[in-house]
Amino acid sequence: MRSIFEQSRAGRRGVAFPRLELPAEAWEVAVLPEGLRRAAPAELPEVAEVDVVRHFTRLSRLNFGVDVGTYPLGSCTMKYNPKFSEDLARLPGFAGLHPLLPQLRRGGLLAQGALQVLHDMDLLLCAITGMAAFTMQPLAGAHGELTGIMLMAAYHRDRGNAKSVVLVPDSAHGTNPASAAIAGYKVVPVPSRQGVMHPDDLKPLLNQSVAGMMMTNPNTLGLFEPHVKTIADLVHGVDGLMYYDGANLNAILGQVKPADLGFDIVHLNLHKTFGTPHGGGGPGSGPVGVVEKLVDFLPVSRVGRRADGTLFLDYDQPKSIGYIAPFYGNFGVILKAYAYILALGGPGLKRVAEHAVLNANYLRVRLSARWPLAVDTPCMHEVVLSAAESAQRHGVSALDVAKALIDFGFHPPTVYFPLIVKEALMVEPTETESKENLDELVAAMERIADLTESDPESLHAAPRTTPVGRLNEVEAARKPDLSYRGACFG
Ligand SMILES: *Cc1c(COP(=O)(O)O)cnc(C)c1O
Repeated sequence: MRSIFEQSRAGRRGVAFPRLELPAEAWEVAVLPEGLRRAAPAELPEVAEVDVVRHFTRLSRLNFGVDVGTYPLGSCTMKYNPKFSEDLARLPGFAGLHPLLPQLRRGGLLAQGALQVLHDMDLLLCAITGMAAFTMQPLAGAHGELTGIMLMAAYHRDRGNAKSVVLVPDSAHGTNPASAAIAGYKVVPVPSRQGVMHPDDLKPLLNQSVAGMMMTNPNTLGLFEPHVKTIADLVHGVDGLMYYDGANLNAILGQVKPADLGFDIVHLNLHKTFGTPHGGGGPGSGPVGVVEKLVDFLPVSRVGRRADGTLFLDYDQPKSIGYIAPFYGNFGVILKAYAYILALGGPGLKRVAEHAVLNANYLRVRLSARWPLAVDTPCMHEVVLSAAESAQRHGVSALDVAKALIDFGFHPPTVYFPLIVKEALMVEPTETESKENLDELVAAMERIADLTESDPESLHAAPRTTPVGRLNEVEAARKPDLSYRGACFG
């Protein structure tokens, strides 16, 4: 069981990423006009090259990222970020794109290529999800959720329906209820049974005040909601809309379309599913797709096409909910995701889902020998374990396990989420980890399980290998020390 990327590197079957072969002119950088150039050299501190190199190398080694090691942070989908997408986004024609660049100029095409990327990405995401149209504007998943709920509100308002409630399952990511609340709705939680929603628990909550339901599928326990079609029918039955939180789309990519499951509004996290870098609040992109009856409400601008075939940013959308972000959205992120989709193609995207699910189930089987599963069934792309027993019997909590893993050279899994699982350890390997990498992760986890029984005290002191040891998390959140010395060197 090698990941698709391992396979392609080894030249076997699998998805081969292209090598960029570009003409030399593509890398030519525009020269700044004389009047805009600096008159005298900038005053910079005089530091020897060796010290500069050592400083930045030291700093880079304090950081942990997907390029350093396995990063099984559940829900976040920290998959490998292929470098050909970076090459593409660095092309001067894209990287130097100014937001105010004329979209079209006599004799030249200027921003036409960028507009074409936005236009084509819309079509690709529609093909993947079954939606009728996408906006590329939202700058993160949570931003997409807010946009999507605003679209839901605009739709009901347009039909003259006063609706006040959005249903959200108790396993939902915290951004779901937050987005619905910010959009002005009352949030009503739906309980889950054995980690999934049951129509019988939903029925008592349904009435004409329900504007819609937000659902993540597979949900945050890594389980596919088996009653999704019935639930969608019930919600539609009270004239509600179904919202799909697409953060876990990598589990069903190319296998099933959210539209076919009954969803009306979808957000995708390009920085998760489509392999663009993220983390630390970095740049993301959360395009939102809708079915036909909601298209008119999408935010401005949208890419339009003139009679002569040229593309333009169209702000003339009378029913639009308006601006949610300026210009082209997070264009660099969209571009990298676009390259990723084209490189993998339909069959490649299908394999992403197959390998994401296979890898998670491999971990499920190996790790459940040491930690009980939150729900004892096969999983999709992530597996949720519980350290509740370990906490009770040995005083070793999910946090202790997470911190100990750092000393073994791995990023910790997500802990204490989803909220309905006590001492949750939520592990998402992603499809880009090879079996060898997964075995190393399992070996480290098994060592921690051994220590839990033989020397639990040692785990409370973890991490020991980092510049700062165990932080008081409450204190760190309430009174953050943001000085670089405080943050990096204790
Ligand atoms: C990550 C995530 C979100 C929010 O996405 P951001 O891009 O981080 O704003 C929403 N729902 C789920 C299930 C997620 O994992």
